[in-house]
Amino acid sequence: MSKELKIVYQNHKPYGIRDDTGFLFFFAKISRFSDQDERYREEIEEKHKLADKLLGFLQAQVETRAVEGKEETEKLYKCDVPGCNVMRTKAQGGNIFTVCDEHWDKR
Ligand SMILES: [Zn+2]
Repeated sequence: MSKELKIVYQNHKPYGIRDDTGFLFFFAKISRFSDQDERYREEIEEKHKLADKLLGFLQAQVETRAVEGKEETEKLYKCDVPGCNVMRTKAQGGNIFTVCDEHWDKR
C-alpha cells in the first residue's frame, strides 16, 4: 500500500479506493428504487462518509508504518562500557560496534 491513496468516484458516488498500483477495494453499488429517493440520497451520503473515513484510516496506517520504519533506522545503540552513556544510531555504526569511538580507541 503506497501513499498515493485516493477515493475514486463514479457518477458522483464513491466507487472504490485505490493507490498508485491499483484498486484496494470497491464499494457496494447503491440500488435506486422508485419512490425511495430519500433513502437513496441518505445511502449515498453515508457512503461518502464511509469513504472519507476509510481513506483517513488507510492514510493513518501508511503514516504509522512510515514512522515505524523511521524509528527502526533511528534506533539508538548504547556503548557497552559501564557508565558510558554515548548513544549512536545505526548510521553511526551503533548496531555494529558495541562501544563508542572513544572507548574503541581506549581498548
Ligand atoms: Zn563509551
